[in-house]
Order: sequence, then structure tokens, then C-alpha cells
Amino acid sequence: MPSFHQLELSTAMLSTLEQLGYQRPTPVQASAIPPILAGRDVIAMAKTGSGKTAAFGIGLLEHLNVRHFAVQGLVLCPTRELADQVAKALRELARSIANVKILTLCGGVAIGPQIGSLSHGAHLVVGTPGRVQDHLRKGTLVLDHLKTLVLDEADRMLDMGFRDAMDDIIGQLPGQRQTLLFSATWPESIRTLSEQYQRDPVDVRVADSEPAPDIDEQFYEIQPGQQADALAALLSLHRPGSCIAFCTTRQQCDELAEILNERGFNALALHGDLDQKDRDAVLVRFANQSVAVLLATDVAARGLDIKSLPLVVNVEPARDTEVHTHRVGRTGRAGEQGRAVTFCTPAQAHRVNRLEAARDGDLAWGDTGALLATPDRPVAPPMRTLCVAGGRKDKVRPGDLMGALTGEAGLPGDAVGKIDLFDFQCFVAIRSELAQKALKRLENGRIKGRRFRVRLV
Ligand code: ADP
Ligand code: MG
Repeated sequence: MPSFHQLELSTAMLSTLEQLGYQRPTPVQASAIPPILAGRDVIAMAKTGSGKTAAFGIGLLEHLNVRHFAVQGLVLCPTRELADQVAKALRELARSIANVKILTLCGGVAIGPQIGSLSHGAHLVVGTPGRVQDHLRKGTLVLDHLKTLVLDEADRMLDMGFRDAMDDIIGQLPGQRQTLLFSATWPESIRTLSEQYQRDPVDVRVADSEPAPDIDEQFYEIQPGQQADALAALLSLHRPGSCIAFCTTRQQCDELAEILNERGFNALALHGDLDQKDRDAVLVRFANQSVAVLLATDVAARGLDIKSLPLVVNVEPARDTEVHTHRVGRTGRAGEQGRAVTFCTPAQAHRVNRLEAARDGDLAWGDTGALLATPDRPVAPPMRTLCVAGGRKDKVRPGDLMGALTGEAGLPGDAVGKIDLFDFQCFVAIRSELAQKALKRLENGRIKGRRFRVRLV
């Protein structure tokens, strides 16, 4: 691991880092700082706590021309708490550079004082997309001289429904700029974002010190009709926060979902017969972690943008090896441990034999008797979904919902999960234990000065 000296930082920065007690760069800093200093676009993926803030913070400050009184760097963050943390870290890193002005622009607080501060000028702005957008619209924030845009926790910003706001903001920035994208995970939506807004980015991915993505795959021989029992037993044994069980037919999805619900497991069916609205609602509730088990057909699961699942189950073996691999590939992504389990009746054995023939090693068969002896122990999903009867067409934005929920002694920012906006409604994931409180707040409060009907799904 190099030292900060080898990264060719200014003496002022080196002395600050020493004062902060940073002895050497973290892996993501060591890989990201050189291309950032060279002015390249960078996409950096590293897990939480790996020092991403200082990686872009050092870049922003080393590039800063303090005598040029214009906003040169903009950091977009998903929540006010994170924006405050980033601004605090930047101020610490800026302590040996005189007169650097760093402003935070977040929703949930009065806009007037922010306008006042902006009129005095700022070098770096840290904010949430909604409020930054407001200031751009009012003309109180001018980004014509911006040199660097940072998208921090970009995956979380997308999860929270900020895509439209980000598009709007980025569309107003100078084309000649550096774009740094930081994310803890690597879903398709982040790749799309990078393709759209970055130029020839340097890809900095810090491999976890844990072993490579690993899928623990197991097979159980069951008798026809034992699928529901085997699935309930498996869920009770591993208690995953989230699981997809692949079924062959729509009827199988519906039947298994019904049986599991009767037994206390929180399950939903996803198949081609649902209309668009129901399908959206199922996808939203599964993706935002307020439903633990999804019974899905292959076709219906195609559009699912889920980062990684702790457990994938094949209620029946897939008809061909490629489909099997595709299903199983939904677990164990992004360096996480994954588990895939396949149930197989004697009549379906040929499908599994084909799979075995296509592989090098033997398949691992579990003890079905022991599995079926597991008593039911359902897990409660971590989140619940609030449905608000107002959406894009009502000009409701994620920031408005965050503001209504977390403003003035409300819920902590991390109680709010994914926010999914549709034209006439939106879904907000709330940590289960705070769901009632959130419901009350939204019922009694106002969003955009209006009252909307709210219910727990
Ligand atoms: P991330 O954004 O990757 O989740 P942070 O940037 O918030 O992580 O950093 C996590 C913690 O590590 C912070 O408390 C920060 O002060 C500390 N930190 C960052 N870089 C270093 C370093 N090079 N040496 C020691 N501590 C560091
Ligand atoms: Mg961070």
C-alpha cells in the first residue's frame, strides 16, 4: 500500500492528513486519488466505511482555486444526514487551506438562509438533489464554472427515486467537467448512469478481502406435492431477509404464495397474468424489502432489478442449464455470500442430471428428512411500504417525502428506504418498527402544502 506522499499531494494536504491521524490511504483512496488528480472520470465501488469521502474530498480540494469565487465542485448525496457528514469531512480536510467556503443545500430546512449564504459565494456545494434543483430553478445557485461533479452513494440516490432530479441537474452542468461516481453496489442502473454521464471512466473496484463471490448450492430430492413444505422449511432454516422462489407455472406461484401466507410467511406471487399496476406494486414491495418471499416465473422475474439475494430457490429444476445458471446468478453478487437451493422430484431427475453433466464437480445433495423436520419460523420483513396517493403529476418529489417524514423531530433518515414514484402514487419503504409512526406523520402532516391519502400496504 503506498503512502499519501507517493500520491503527490500538496504539503498542506499532507499535513492535514497527518493531523487527522490518517497514516496511509485506504485501498479505494490509493486507487482512486491518482486518476482523480489527473482529472479523469472515476467510478469507484467500495463498501461502506472504506474511506470514499476523503477519496473525492482530497481531489476536490487539491483542484480548488480558492481565489476564484465560484462553485467549482458539487457533491450530490441521498440524504441530509449524509450531506452533513460529507460537508463536515470536507471542512476537516480543508483546514489548512485558508478561506474555503463549503455550503450544504438540503431540503427539510428553510430555503431563505441558504439563498443568503449562496449570495456570499461558495467554492464547494454539498446537497440533496431536490434542494439543489430548487436553487437551480430559482437561479440562486449558478454552476457555470463547475469543474467536478461527485455522485456520492449513487446507488442509494437511485433507490430513493432521485433519477429525474439528477438528470435535470446534470443537464445544466458544463459538459467539460469531471464526473466522479461512488457506489457501494453495482446494479444495472448504476452502469447505465455511468454510461450516460461519464467519459471514459477509470474503474476502481476494491475487491473485498473476503473470498470471491461464492454461491453455496444445494439440491434436495422431494416427493411430488412436498414443494410447499420444503420451501417453508428452507425459509425457516435460513431465514433470509429476501428470497426468490422460481416456479414453473402461474398456478404454482399463486398456490405456493397462498400456502406460505397462511403459514405466516410474507409472500407474493409475480407472474405474467398480473396487470401493470399490480405488477408494479409487487416489484416495488419486493425491491424495497417489505416482502420477504417472491414466487416468480422466469419470464416475470426478467425485469427485476434486485442487487443481490441471500437465497434463490428452484421449486422445480429449470428445464435447461442456461436458465438454471441465470436464476442462480441472482444470488451471491457484489462479493456477498449467496445460497441457491433446488428441489427435485424423482420424475424431474433428468433435468438435474443434465446440469451435473455440464459441470465438473458432483452436486451437493441435502438431507430432505432433516430439512422437512424444521418447524415453521417465518421472518418478518425489515421494511413496510406506505402508499401515498400522490405522485409525479402532483409534483411530489422524493425530497418532499423525506422532508415530511424526517423534518423537525421526525424519523431518522435511515428509517426511510427506497422511494418509488409513479404518476399518481408513490411507495415509501419504512423500517417496520417505525411504520405506524411514519403513517401518522404523513396522515397529519402536509406534503407540498397538501394532504394526500396515505395507507400501509
Ligand atoms: P465511506 O464513504 O466509504 O462509507 P467514509 O469516507 O465515511 O467511508 O470513511 C469512513 C471512516 O474512515 C471515517 O471516519 C474517516 O474519517 C475514516 N478514514 C478515511 N480515510 C482514512 C484513512 N486513510 N486512514 C484512517 N481513517 C480514514
Ligand atoms: Mg460515503
